[in-house]
Amino acid sequence: MDDSDTVKVSNEEEYLLISGIQHFIFCRRQWALIHIERLWEENFFTLDGQIKHEKVDEGAYETKNDKKILRSLSIVSHKLRIQGKCDVVELKPDPEGFYFSKYKEKYSVYPVEYKRGKPKKDESDKMQLLAEAMCLEEMLGVRIEEGACFYFETRRRESFVFTAEMRDRLIKMIEEMNQYYDRKYTPQVKKSHKCKSCSLKNLCLPEISEAGSVSKYMEKRIQNETIT
Ligand code: SF4
Repeated sequence: MDDSDTVKVSNEEEYLLISGIQHFIFCRRQWALIHIERLWEENFFTLDGQIKHEKVDEGAYETKNDKKILRSLSIVSHKLRIQGKCDVVELKPDPEGFYFSKYKEKYSVYPVEYKRGKPKKDESDKMQLLAEAMCLEEMLGVRIEEGACFYFETRRRESFVFTAEMRDRLIKMIEEMNQYYDRKYTPQVKKSHKCKSCSLKNLCLPEISEAGSVSKYMEKRIQNETIT
C-alpha cells in the first residue's frame, strides 16, 4: 500500500456512490450534475433512499432451504473508492466455494440487485452489479463469477457472468469518475437523443450550452418567437 492508498482509505465518506454508475453510462454530464454539483440532489438522493428502503428490509437475514440470504448489505471498495448497498447477497453451499468461518461451511457468493423497470438496452445494470461484486470480493476475500438483476416489470431474474474484459472496462470507468470527482469537473453538454428522456434536461439546459452562453440562448429564443 502506498501513500495515495492511505489517503484514499481515510476519505471513505468521499467515495463515489455505486448507484451513480448508471448515470455515468447514460451521460457523463448527467452524472456530474447529480454527484458533483448536487443538482437534483433532493430528488435523486431521497428517491434512491426510498426505493432502496421499499425494496429490501434493512440488514435482514434469512435462511431459505440451504441458502443464506443477506439483505441490504453496506459495501465498499477502498481500491476503487466506491460505496453503496447490495440489495441481496445469496450464499449458496458450494464445496468449491469459500469457507465462511461464521457458518463453518463453504459457499459461493451471489449478488442480486432489484430493479424497478425492465432490462435496459445499455449495460448500466450489469456494470452496477459487477461493481457490487467487486466490493464484496474485496471485503470478503472471495471471487464472484456471476450475479443477477431482478426486474419488477417482467418479474424475472437476468443473470450476468462477469468477464475479465468487463472488469477492465469497469475499473477504467471508475478511475475516470474518480478523476472527474477529484477535479470537480463537469463535462460539457454532448447533445444526443438521450437528452429528450433525460430527467435533468431542465437543469442541464442543453440548448443554452449549445448556444455558448445564456445571453446568446435568450437572443436566439427572442428571434425565434418574433419569427413565429
Ligand atoms: S440533457 Fe443531455 S447533455 Fe444534459 S445531462 Fe441530460 S443527457 Fe446529458
